Amino acid sequence: MSEPVLKVRDLSVVLERNGRDFPVLDGVTFDIAPGEVLGLVGESGAGKSMTGIAIIDLLVPPLRRTSGTIALSGERLDQLSAKRMRRVRGKRIGFVFQDPMTSLNPVLSIGRQLTDTMRRHLPLTRGEARERAIAWLTRVGLANPPRVFAAAPHELSGGQRQRIVIALALCAEPDLLIADEPTTALDVSVQAHMLTLLRELHEETGTAMMLITHDLGVIAKMADRVAVFYAGRVIETAPTGRLIGAPLHPYTAGLMQATPAPDADGAMRVRAIPGAMPGIGALPPGCAFHPRCERAQAICREERPPLADAGGHDAACYFPLVEEVVS
Ligand code: SF4
Repeated sequence: MSEPVLKVRDLSVVLERNGRDFPVLDGVTFDIAPGEVLGLVGESGAGKSMTGIAIIDLLVPPLRRTSGTIALSGERLDQLSAKRMRRVRGKRIGFVFQDPMTSLNPVLSIGRQLTDTMRRHLPLTRGEARERAIAWLTRVGLANPPRVFAAAPHELSGGQRQRIVIALALCAEPDLLIADEPTTALDVSVQAHMLTLLRELHEETGTAMMLITHDLGVIAKMADRVAVFYAGRVIETAPTGRLIGAPLHPYTAGLMQATPAPDADGAMRVRAIPGAMPGIGALPPGCAFHPRCERAQAICREERPPLADAGGHDAACYFPLVEEVVS
């Protein structure tokens, strides 16, 4: 089997408050294979974005990584100096955040930002970089690329800016693209186009992708495999079709029922999970989901279920839903 592009093992992050450490990520473990799209899904605050931030080493106090290894194509990122890590960001890991202005310099033209990024990481002359930048603007579906090349970010729409951020993230030919809620801030009418674009570019370039989203619909459309996050932990992981067809963890099943879907009469149906995810510093003992879980029994309130290795469809649950089907 080929080396994973990204290998994360036992990644834990704490938030320090009043001299005490509170877990934010706890033992997060997953791989992303070459050319694979791994979806990280869960409610806001579950740890998905924090995982992305920890991977690119942008945690700032009071947040701190306390354990874990992160390897990109076999190289340990968690052992790199800050200077070498800066080179990894942008060159070997590209990122697309929810708000495109996070990634764009408001005072530099789009063309300058693209050519600077490429020339920082690739052996290109100014002319070659310009040619490639125009090609990238075309590739991400922008009309009149020379005009966009000369434009400043504020002269463009949110959808156009996000297309440019995608070009910026991919133009240095990274090993891995991290896309964190890449369509959430865009108009609904633009969201589907943007996902199609991301999927097409992923297929063309073969870049592995870590797609962070709260939306299972986006996962179903985009991801090959899924890791479901709850309260700072991965609680289920599986190929997308298996997870959506037969979730094992009661939280994943609840998340699916909480996704709007039409019923037999065509009316939209949503069944929210009762209660709320515990905040930082308020984790209950045992399984963090037990106060919201209809299947909880005594052991769930006392002992934390490990993420059982069950041949590619793994769940951290003592009484997974499959038992109902089997018995
Ligand atoms: Fe529910 Fe228990 Fe499974 Fe947790 S371990 S999800 S409380 S059944």
